[in-house]
Formats: sequence, structure tokens, C-alpha cells
Amino acid sequence: MLKTLLNESVWDLDLEAIDPLLVKAGGITLSGPDAQWLETRNRHGETVQVIPGTTIKGAFRAYGEKILRTLRAPVCNPFVKENRPDRFCGQAFDRRQHHVSASAAYAEACPACRLFGSTHFIGRFQPADAMPDRKLLAESRDGVGIDRVSGGAYSGAKFEYSVVPAGSVFRTRIAVQNFEMWQMGLLALILRDFMAGFIRIGSGKARGLGGVKAHLTGWRLYQFGKNAPGREVRGIGAQMEQAGEPYRLIAQPDTVSLPEALAASWQREGLRWSLSIPKGEHEPVLASMSEVFIACAEANRLPRVAQ
Ligand SMILES: [Zn+2]
Repeated sequence: MLKTLLNESVWDLDLEAIDPLLVKAGGITLSGPDAQWLETRNRHGETVQVIPGTTIKGAFRAYGEKILRTLRAPVCNPFVKENRPDRFCGQAFDRRQHHVSASAAYAEACPACRLFGSTHFIGRFQPADAMPDRKLLAESRDGVGIDRVSGGAYSGAKFEYSVVPAGSVFRTRIAVQNFEMWQMGLLALILRDFMAGFIRIGSGKARGLGGVKAHLTGWRLYQFGKNAPGREVRGIGAQMEQAGEPYRLIAQPDTVSLPEALAASWQREGLRWSLSIPKGEHEPVLASMSEVFIACAEANRLPRVAQ
């Protein structure tokens, strides 16, 4: 959707394991642990553990859906295909006879699909694969199947899995393009809980694996256009002329106000304006974005699901 680029936010994140971590490779191996770490090659050609961008997106989406449901905002369930009110937005569009345009797929999708995407359009939220900041040594652990009658170890149910230790750090970059401000606000709420260590990633959550603490190490905002943005950071609803049609964007509230000193630091970079938000300002800017999301949710203005 939207062939033109209007705004962008880029977060640099360190994901620090506060528990041992396992992101499983698919498939079965003939030797070695039963559950192995997913690996890839880094830019130096070395084999390293990787947390795929899709896993990070899944963790953000699942947590975001929880927040939306808590606020009684309508969200679909990607695994429900039948004729229920919470069926997956993509499924609702599949059933139509005629072609569904990208704008209609966006306009009629639930808040989670609008942000994270569905089968009919790519989401706004694009995390890169997270790579370790240094070479990590995976440790092998033994798991034991529990006999449901005796409560002891079930013979023959021993299995091995490999983890990276607590303290391991993975680096990633998350870009959000053409955002509405309520979307940045929801992401800000999720990120703050990620930074507080409330979100788990990967396998073995019931075994105490997967606790991760996020650290926001850098944040750049971009706005496209001739004139310097000044104090206002605008979502695409506030930037588009005809009140956001045909995407049904929320045009109001769709801006946040920056502190004056910060607003003076927009830099021209070719066609876009770029602003690096210093560490001390991360928290207040995240907070004012969250307020826009909460205001939309409380006024019952978040998008409705297509029926
Ligand atoms: Zn949906």
C-alpha cells in the first residue's frame, strides 16, 4: 500500500537474554542435540545463531494483540478460519469474489493486521534478523520427560537441547514505514514492556527459557517533504490531504509534539528529513506516542474488523 514514502521510524535494539535462550532450527538431525539453535552466516561468512525477524515480529504481534484485547479493541485471530467474528482478516478477504485492493485490505483490516500485515498486504513493522554481537557458545542441556503416573523420569524420554547462556546479546534493527501515530503508540507500549523484560522469545518458555530484555540503542525518525517538520512528528493520516481516504486512516489525533531543542535538530538528507533522538529523550517521546494510541482506544476510534 501507499506507493510514496511519508515517514519512517528506525529503532536499533539490543536483545539481551536474561534466561538461557533457544530459537529452534526446523527439521530433524541424525546426531547432536534433539533441539538445535537456528543458524545462519553473518557478513564475515561465519556460522552464527540467529533470531529471525519473523520471530521478533511474532513476539511483538502476540503482545500487541494482548494489549488490544485488554482495551476491548477488535482484533482477529490468525488461526480462526470459520465464520466467527474473530476470524482472520485475510480469510475474510479470501472469501470475496472480486479482487481486494491494497487500500481496501488495509481500510477493513483489524488494528493488528494493519500494523503487522496479513495475507493481503505487508505490514508496517519490519524487523531485521537479530545476530549475536560476538561469538556465542551454545550449551547442551538435558531435558527429561516426566512420567505422568509416578511423577519421576519417564524411561526413554530423555532429550537434549542447545541454548545460548543468559547475558548473550543479539542486535537488530526495526523499521516502521508509513505509520499512523496510534501504531507507533502501540509499538511504544510493547517496546517499553520488552525493555522491562516482560516478553519471552523462542522455545521452552515453560522450562524458564526465553526471557529477553530489549535495550534501545538508537532511534531515528524520518519525514519526507520539502519543509522541515519542526516540532510536529506526523503520522500518515495527518500528512495525507483527503483525511486518509481510501485507507480510512485516523487523521486526528495523529501527531506528537517534540521538545523545542530536539525539533531544531532535523537534518536534511536528500529527499527526507532525519532526526536522531538522543537517549535521554527516548522515554518521553515513547510516552507521548503511547498517549495517542490510548486516546484512540479510549475514544473507540481504532479500526473495526471487516465482516
Ligand atoms: Zn486482522
